[in-house]
Amino acid sequence: MSDTLTEAHAALRRWFGYESFRGDQAAVIEHVASGGDAVVLMPTGGGKSLCYQIPSLLREGTGVVVSPLIALMHDQVEALLRTGIRAAFLNSSQGSAERADVEQRYLAGELDLLYVAPERLNTESTLSLLGRGRIALFAIDEAHCVSQWGHDFRPDYLALGALAERWPDVPRIALTATATRATHQEITARLGLGNARHFVASFDRPNIQYRIASKAEVKAQLLDFIRTETASAGHPIAGIVYALSRATTEKVAAYLAQHGIDAVPYHAGLDAATRRRTQDRFLREDGVVVVATIAFGMGIDKPDVRFVAHVDLPKSVEGYYQETGRAGRDGEPATAWLAYGLADVVQQRRMIDESPGDLAFRRRLSAHLDAMLALCETITCRRQNVLAYFGQDSAPCGNCDTCLEPPTSWDGTVPVQKLLSTVVRLQRERNQRFGAGQLIDILRGSKTARIEQQRHHELATFGIGADLSDLQWRAVVRQSIALGLLTPTGEYGVLTLTDASGSVLSGERQVLLRHEPERRGRSSGGGGRKQSPAASDLAPDALARFEALRTWRTGEAREQAVPPYVVFSDATLRALAAANPGSIDQLDGISGIGQVKRERYGAALVDLLGGGL
Ligand code: ADP
Ligand code: ZN
Repeated sequence: MSDTLTEAHAALRRWFGYESFRGDQAAVIEHVASGGDAVVLMPTGGGKSLCYQIPSLLREGTGVVVSPLIALMHDQVEALLRTGIRAAFLNSSQGSAERADVEQRYLAGELDLLYVAPERLNTESTLSLLGRGRIALFAIDEAHCVSQWGHDFRPDYLALGALAERWPDVPRIALTATATRATHQEITARLGLGNARHFVASFDRPNIQYRIASKAEVKAQLLDFIRTETASAGHPIAGIVYALSRATTEKVAAYLAQHGIDAVPYHAGLDAATRRRTQDRFLREDGVVVVATIAFGMGIDKPDVRFVAHVDLPKSVEGYYQETGRAGRDGEPATAWLAYGLADVVQQRRMIDESPGDLAFRRRLSAHLDAMLALCETITCRRQNVLAYFGQDSAPCGNCDTCLEPPTSWDGTVPVQKLLSTVVRLQRERNQRFGAGQLIDILRGSKTARIEQQRHHELATFGIGADLSDLQWRAVVRQSIALGLLTPTGEYGVLTLTDASGSVLSGERQVLLRHEPERRGRSSGGGGRKQSPAASDLAPDALARFEALRTWRTGEAREQAVPPYVVFSDATLRALAAANPGSIDQLDGISGIGQVKRERYGAALVDLLGGGL
């Protein structure tokens, strides 16, 4: 082992109380600590922070961390201070006295880490301040913000390329959880990281279970899902529910609250104070569910979010992966649940049609939606599907709904032909286009007022699909759209043929459809759900200790006005509950207890556990 690596291990143990590095961490740290530049692509929860925190501790001077997430800097710095690391931040939320104090400590060489907002770093006064002190390295967090085509573009990031010219000898490390090749290339080019070493981790998040359900009564399905997850955890759990519109977030939150879930809405229409309060409650209290538009969660690095649910279809696989990635950052079991239905597809197509961009832009949106639909309708492993989208090969995972309860496929060629030929007939014989509802009524031979009025019972395809239920037909329509055999257009989502429809109509192409399980929504939930750590591998007496430790942690966190995980993570509490140390010495080897925390909390923990729990 090189000297640098030996020192890195010692730092990991001393400051963070962890036994070993994960994945690429050791390689990144060794490279950067030795003065090299790095580009690090690692999924959320992969452990990016240590990749720049430890080199900052090992190198002389202060590690300067650029982060766009001002709201988080405070908690990040608090968490570091509690491990004994000398950290501070500079951003617009500060008063001038506080700022002057931070600047002075930086110049005196008293800071290991300094977090700086990008807009501040781009001012000459900050640059010249940094120049007067000693910089250990630059870490550019959330580096995908430099990508103009990505969804989080921040103009302030573009200027960060200049750091290379001003400080050619200071190592720079760019980090992101956004995986696509295009973003990776843009980061490298724009941040002047041509000589950097690239570390691309697997994007797999094995602890997250992916589930995609078809939508029936979505609020009831969601409630059922949350109740099942809560029951398996044994206590209220924190989660995020994403919806597209503000109105939906309000409605869903109210519904959940009525049914006993501690749920609150969050969207850009709420005033800043309310949003701030919701965010604080989510971070600091146990078991709060936030029902939000996608603006929520960007950079909320709460490690113990146990589920992320989507009640509307995400617009892209990238977005879906980023949002679901906010679950289970602590590595403990978590669930990503999505409900989607025909109306989602129709709505999203309409939004694309009506979007103001040019044709190329709309095509890109369309391609994103198609990939998302393919994921929803796949009869193979969900995880394999997502990872393939990011260019990574993998085997079936055993921890997604299709792996756990393999869907059967059925030959849907004939029903799809019936559906397509109904579209053809309406178009040719009547010059009409209709949406899914009317097509299904025609196929099932329903005598509705609209059928009579349009004389649709005179069509040759009227009633030829009576063998399938309304629900089954909706699945056929939805999957036909996902397969690109039909496309909804216009305000009413009228269905039209595509270039691919012909081969099905002519019988050249067979269509395999995903079987719709009859059991839906109100079932007891996931067959092979991995139980939460609290309920699974702890014996009953250890479970009682775990709960007692949680209660103690809540009190500590409240007293110090920090989120509970800043005190200890769930994983550490679980290890404590299992090991049941009877003395301070026996705290050795429990993951997450570094020197400072051991001194600070050791006696209290031993007291609490020794109390005969
Ligand atoms: P990211 O920024 O990549 O999302 P973080 O740096 O926040 O991830 O790390 C996620 C969680 O994993 C944190 O709770 C962190 O303390 C923990 N962690 C990181 N590296 C290790 C390690 N080597 N051993 C144990 N826990 C780790
Ligand atoms: Zn799988």
